[in-house]
Amino acid sequence: MRIGYGWDSHEFKPGIPLKIGGLTLPHDQGLGGHSDGDVLLHAITDALLGAIAGPDIGSLFPPSDAQWKNADSALFLQEALKRVKDAGYELVNLDSTLILMTPKIGPHADNMRKHVARLCGIPADCVGIKAKTPEGIGTDHAAIANVAVLLRSAF
Ligand code: MG
Repeated sequence: MRIGYGWDSHEFKPGIPLKIGGLTLPHDQGLGGHSDGDVLLHAITDALLGAIAGPDIGSLFPPSDAQWKNADSALFLQEALKRVKDAGYELVNLDSTLILMTPKIGPHADNMRKHVARLCGIPADCVGIKAKTPEGIGTDHAAIANVAVLLRSAF
């Protein structure tokens, strides 16, 4: 068995779509970044890579590389899942906490859970999506994601 942990943050910017967990959420701002800024998929990717002691997301997909500009972060996740498989492991479950002031994640959490589960190839009841507002930590202009994953041997 292996555990992995991932963390990411992105700043809100006006005029771009908001993508979290592979879903486009209705909101007047999106998350800036070289790729699509999907803070949750980035944290899941890093948790998977960390669980197999792999290179982190920034090493595999450097922001300096033009080919990842506006990239769909599902591509990063697929590469991490491939590396997990090549290392002889499979994903058992993942749990996440999002920290952001707006929009409210609650109404989207069930869809997000199902979508992330589909992207990861695990049942929807093996994905936890929780959300908090950033009380007293001064990050109202950002979205933060924390993720833990559990892997088991595929053999
Ligand atoms: Mg990121």
